[in-house]
Formats: sequence, structure tokens, C-alpha cells
Amino acid sequence: MLRITELSLPLHHADEELPAAIRKRLRITPRDMVRFAVARRAHDARDKNDIQLVYSVDVTLRDEAPVLARMKKDRNVQRTPDTGYRFVTKVADYRGPRPVVIGAGPCGLFAGLILAQMGLKPIILDRGKVVRERTKDTWALWRRGVLDPESNVQFGEGGAGTFSDGKLYSRIKDPRHLDRKVLIEFVKAGAPREILTEAHPHIGTFRLVTMVESMRATIEALGGEYRFETRVDGIDVATDAAGTRRMRGLHLHNGGYIEAEQVVLAVGHSARDTFHMLHDAGVFVEAKPFSVGVRIEHPQSWIDNARFGPNAGNAILGAAEYHISHHAKNGRTAYSFCMCPGGTVVAATSEIGRVATNGMSQYSRNERNANSGMVVGIDPARDYPDGPLAGIALQREIEERAFVAGGSNYNAPAQLLGDFLAGRPSTKLGSVTPSYRPGVTMTDLALCLPDFAVTAMREALVQFGREIPGYDHPDAVLTGVETRTSAPVRTTRGDDFQSLNTLGLYPAGEGAGYAGGILSAAVDGIKVAEAVALACIGRLTDK
Ligand code: FAD
Repeated sequence: MLRITELSLPLHHADEELPAAIRKRLRITPRDMVRFAVARRAHDARDKNDIQLVYSVDVTLRDEAPVLARMKKDRNVQRTPDTGYRFVTKVADYRGPRPVVIGAGPCGLFAGLILAQMGLKPIILDRGKVVRERTKDTWALWRRGVLDPESNVQFGEGGAGTFSDGKLYSRIKDPRHLDRKVLIEFVKAGAPREILTEAHPHIGTFRLVTMVESMRATIEALGGEYRFETRVDGIDVATDAAGTRRMRGLHLHNGGYIEAEQVVLAVGHSARDTFHMLHDAGVFVEAKPFSVGVRIEHPQSWIDNARFGPNAGNAILGAAEYHISHHAKNGRTAYSFCMCPGGTVVAATSEIGRVATNGMSQYSRNERNANSGMVVGIDPARDYPDGPLAGIALQREIEERAFVAGGSNYNAPAQLLGDFLAGRPSTKLGSVTPSYRPGVTMTDLALCLPDFAVTAMREALVQFGREIPGYDHPDAVLTGVETRTSAPVRTTRGDDFQSLNTLGLYPAGEGAGYAGGILSAAVDGIKVAEAVALACIGRLTDK
């Protein structure tokens, strides 16, 4: 099979134009082509009056060799890559020590799934509740301002991405195409098939809930086991005469203990107590950069019009997205983060007395507003130099200020963009209705954020208004604070995926500092599961 990439056709092309374009590109007749399938579809809206659909297509020919020979200088015509997943090992009737996965977010889920598919019967622990129960607890914060610190947007089955836009793209380079394995498993679990071909696929929050349940059923059917409401509060490490540290077991919050020699640590970026526990237990952790800022909301129609012009509202294009960044004069970079077209801003805290925001949407992406994080990068050397856990302290401080500025009731502090630029507190809303629940309190967001971040955002917002007309409209609403952009700590691992100083501990996913987003966390879960599986098999053959 051949893959043609970068095959552009106008947005409003007829169905038959695609096979015709394939034939023209390959210089073949209709008889030469057996079939074709779209491998990927993106759009190019740089000229909004002439938007192009950009296809990658897989083509089966009667005789491929002469066409390949003729097109050998065309880098957009190649053999279709083999994206099939191959297990590194499979075991029948495994009786060795069971691998344990801490965390049932995308990383832990995929680590668990792959381990189960290889026959290794993992045990998956999560501090939060099963997804349906967790959904009720999450809504309790959004509707009534009642937070359960163990069952919320961050913690529980499905992890942080369950109530999200479910965007499934990442910028990772993946020669093994593990992202394809993730997408295929998601489709098996109930995701729409077009995630396999869309360049910017998304799932939306409701489907994610049922998908997570379906994946649990698969893992359990393969001999895996889940334990919810089971928080790991300590690790048991054996140190030998040479000083080598090895995992022996896990201490649970309820006083329980699990023997565990191979442990996937997939706890996400909000497990601050767990990071402290690991540090206290001597596991090597170090501070890492992350970003802080606010969420910004505009009517989705403004973004659609700015991006798609006369094609705004076209069903193929869907709700418009954006990715923007600006290097400010003070040396800081402000950028859009986790943009959610047609979605809502959500209360994303997991700690009492703190406020944090994020965004989510449904599959239809048809809510009134577009929202996005608008954040500024910060780093340990300049901004929190006081040790590996100092980033956590800074996050907490900013979230506490936001809680107070919001009225100490989980309302979020908010400000009109015009007032933010002018440096004056807001007292009332304009034409944009914010979506954050339980509610917003109009105030001055500069009270919550570091001065350099405020300065960089002010400069960037004006610049973004030049790139997306209307972006700097004075009525756009900023809601604070965005602090959980990534983990403030890295639990560093070696080439063998194990902690630098604790064998048998496999830090993974976003919380360990090795992923950013659902897809990359899931891919990292697969990689780590493979390393764990080989270690489990190695132990069997050693004995
Ligand atoms: P997590 O998903 O955070 O999972 C960690 C799990 O570990 C949790 O279930 C937690 O309960 C559990 N845990 C933590 N500590 C312990 C412990 N001590 N013992 C037992 N269990 C523990 N990304 C995208 O790619 N696209 C999006 O559209 C998107 N939208 C988002 C919207 C929101 C509201 C949020 C909060 C995040 C969003 N993200 C999105 C980010 C994405 O969710 C994360 O990148 C991803 O979930 C990270 O996966 P993970 O498995 O590494 O960690």
C-alpha cells in the first residue's frame, strides 16, 4: 500500500474529487487503483476565503512497484508505514509477583491495559472513586461549591482528563506509532471512529466516562484487578549492602500493605502529597518548569469568524481552535494552553481552600464560549529556587490567593480583559457570560499572580488581538487561576524507565514529568508497561 500525504482539495469539494486527485498525483488510470482510504484529514485555514482540506490517503494499487519507482523523488508518496502494535512479550498463566499500577488516569489505564493484554494481571490502585461516583462528586463542586479532596476533577477513575475536551493530539515524535495503539483501544472502548483519521481528534467528556468503564471491563476480563478509594501513602524500599534501593511494597492510607516489586507510578500532576511522600522516602525528585496564568473566554462565534471568515459554522471545520504564543519584553513567554472550543471553564481544584481552573467540552463542542488557558512559563532557577518541592508551594500560594479573591467559597476570581489591561479591578460583566461554576467574583486578577506573569500577559493579549481580531475585546473574561498546566516536579527515571535511585519504581505520565496531555500520558503508560513486563519475565527466568 502507498501513502500520499499533503493532498489538498478545496473545503467544498465533491466526493469524487478525492479519487480523481489521487489518480492525478500518481499518474494512474481508474483501473490501476483497487481502493483507497483516508488516513488523516486536516484543514489549512491560513487563507480563510480559500480553506483547503489536506489529506493523507492510503492507496492499494494493482501493481505498486512501477508507481513507487516513478515517484521515488516525491517525499509525499511513500510506502504506507506499518503502525501495528506488537507486544514485547506475552505470558500464559503468569504466577509471578503482580505488577502494581498507581493511578487510573490515561497513563495508568494504558499501563494496566498493556500489562493485562500481555498476561501479567496487574493490580491498579486509585485514591479516587469509580468514575460514576466520581462524576457526582465533581458536580458537587461545580453546582454547590462542595469539594471532596479525594474525588474530583483530578482524582478518581479516568484521571485528570475524564472531564475534559478529550483532545487527542500531541507533538511527540513517535517512531513506533504507539499513539495509534492508544487511538485504536479508545475506539474499541467506544470513541468515535473519526479519531483515527482527524488531525485534531477530540472525544468530549461524556464519552470519556463510558470509555473508561469499558476499558476497566477489558482489563478485569484479562485478570487485572482494580482497587478504588485506595491511596498509596508510603513506599517500602529495601536497601542492600551495596546501597541499592529496591521496591518491596506499598503502604496504603487505610493501614493496608501490598507487596510490590514492580510499580508504575502514574499519579498525575496534582498528587502533591504523594510527591512529598516520595521525596521524604528518598526517591530522587527535582523541580521542573510549568506555567501559571488564567483562562480566557470569548464567544466561540468570534473565534470562528476570525479563523474561518465566510466558512464559519461549516460542519467539517467544526468549532475553530487556536494556538498562539508571544515572547514578551520581560523575557517571559505567554501562550494559549489546552484550548477548548465550544466548551466551559471548570473548577479543577483538588485541595480545600484553593481555586484552580481548566477547560472541558462535549463532543459536539457547541457551548457558547471558546476558552483557553492563557499562561506564562515559569522555571525553578528564576521563580522557585528553594528545592525540589518549591514549585508545589508556589502553586498552592497562587491558588490560595485565588480562593480568597473569589470570595472563599470556590467561586473563581474573574476580570474583564479591558480592566486587566488597564490595571483596574472589574466590578461587573460585559457582553461575555463566563461559564465557570459555581460562579465568578469580579476582581483584580493581578492580586493572584506574579507581577512578571501579569506584565507578560498584558503585552501578549494586545498582540493576540492583532493575530485574531476581537481577541483583545475589552469584554472577554479572564478567570483565575490556571496553575495545573503540568507537574511542578519530575520523578526522574533512567533509560530503563526506573527511578534514578529506586529500582522497581517506574515513574510515568504527566505527574512524573514525562507527558503532557491524554495521548502522551497513555503512550508513556505503554512504554513503561513494556519495561515492567520484561522485568517481570526476567524475574521469572532468574528464579
Ligand atoms: P492523571 O490523569 O492525573 O491520573 C492520575 C491518577 O492517579 C488519578 O486518577 C489519581 O486519583 C491517582 N492518584 C494520585 N495519587 C495517588 C495515590 N497516592 N494513590 C493512588 N492513586 C493516586 N489533556 C489532553 O490531552 N486533552 C484535553 O482536552 C485535556 N483537557 C483537560 C481538562 C481538564 C479539566 C484537566 C484537569 C486536564 C485536561 N487535560 C487534557 C490534561 C490530561 O488530563 C492529563 O494530561 C492526563 O490526564 C495525565 O494523565 P496521567 O495518567 O499521567 O495522570
